[in-house]
Amino acid sequence: MRYSRLFGRTSKTVPSDADSRNARLLVQAGYVDQLMSGVYTYLPLGLRSLNRIKQVVREEMEAIGGQEILMPALTPREPWATTGRWNDPGPEVMFRLKGRGDKDLVLGWTHEEIVTPLVKRFIRSYKDLPVAVYQVQDKFRNEPRAKSGLLRGREFSMKDLYSFHRNQEDLDEFYERAKTAYLNVYRRCGLDAIVTEASGGAFSEYSHEYQVLTENGEDIIYYCPKCQYAQNREISGYRAGDACPKCGEAMGEGKAIEVGNIFRLGTRFTDPFGVTYSDETGKQQPVVMGCYGIGPSRVMGAIVEIHSDDRGIIWPKQVAPYPVQLVLVPSKDGEEAVRLRETAEKLASGLAAVGLEPLYDDREDVRAGEKFADADLIGLPVRLVVSPKSLGAGGVEWKLRSGSDTEIVPIDAVPDRVSDFYNLT
Ligand code: ATP
Ligand code: MG
Repeated sequence: MRYSRLFGRTSKTVPSDADSRNARLLVQAGYVDQLMSGVYTYLPLGLRSLNRIKQVVREEMEAIGGQEILMPALTPREPWATTGRWNDPGPEVMFRLKGRGDKDLVLGWTHEEIVTPLVKRFIRSYKDLPVAVYQVQDKFRNEPRAKSGLLRGREFSMKDLYSFHRNQEDLDEFYERAKTAYLNVYRRCGLDAIVTEASGGAFSEYSHEYQVLTENGEDIIYYCPKCQYAQNREISGYRAGDACPKCGEAMGEGKAIEVGNIFRLGTRFTDPFGVTYSDETGKQQPVVMGCYGIGPSRVMGAIVEIHSDDRGIIWPKQVAPYPVQLVLVPSKDGEEAVRLRETAEKLASGLAAVGLEPLYDDREDVRAGEKFADADLIGLPVRLVVSPKSLGAGGVEWKLRSGSDTEIVPIDAVPDRVSDFYNLT
């Protein structure tokens, strides 16, 4: 992708209402554009990163047997009335609207009310269980405080998976596998998530949140630095310095971002919709349920909070919008300018040919210093510079966004070098 053609631009102006690092950097680097509080457009760079995060999530959900579906975002009132959520939480959380004929509608803010009657239509006997379906979709919540960029939106991306089981043991077994899959997601996205006990498990003592420690977090957790046992402060009887109940180490206290949440729901939703199955003896039994949420857009915001410095974003490999930023340093000397451009073009197509299409800063009218500043702001993991100096030294300058060392790599060796860096070989 030629930077000169890329839709979206970096900006030197700090957005006046950016209340957090991720909001500031993602807007300034040209990843997102704010429409209103808590609602963003994803520009090409931002959408590529968001899609990479969603891809990681999809792979891990498929690995535990999840099957992707897509439910509507526009939903009728009736199922919400059936579970009581039409009134509680009601408009506190829901965006309600009126359709034709004065029909009450709700924009999907979670989908238990939609998925449960759906699954009911396909479950007859124990042979049809377990079932796990998920979707990746925008959710709508009338958040009282939409803030912190992508961390708390009014429209935001969510992967929600719902599992249905014949009994608690089967749910428990799936729940444990989901726990591990979640940790895989965060690891692959460059986040150290801590499995944290929280209230809200209708069917068990705790639900589990995935919390990432950072100063910009809204939640407070108590966590053990040694064995990673953790509880959310909202439910916790612990205080900082208390002995960890699992290993005895002194527990720490920290601010954190909740990047995921899993619940054993039991029959909270299957009861009101009358979802049962017939067991081996032909007797009707209640179906038990779990739900598992991850916010890819919040994950993206959290990544930027954690992987960034004063100059910009520092993307982890798996979720960077492009693998390489290729910078052509312009020259005033006509012949030299041609040589530099030819080298950069050749390199760009060589990388694209092995599936490593770079973001190629081909601009002629921008100074090198400004291009480097843009590369730092955009934050791709590898920066390659084609300059008179690098050509003089026999190649291109290689630098990682996360470090400060530079080295000269011969042009022909670059595609292999980048492949190695991304473990593609
Ligand atoms: P929170 O406690 O932060 O309000 P929640 O517990 O209501 O979130 P869930 O309903 O469990 O969240 O949603 C699952 C996941 O969706 C959350 O773990 C988070 O990653 C994401 N998420 C929830 N609300 C938002 C939001 N307003 N903006 C962005 N992501 C969100
Ligand atoms: Mg929560």
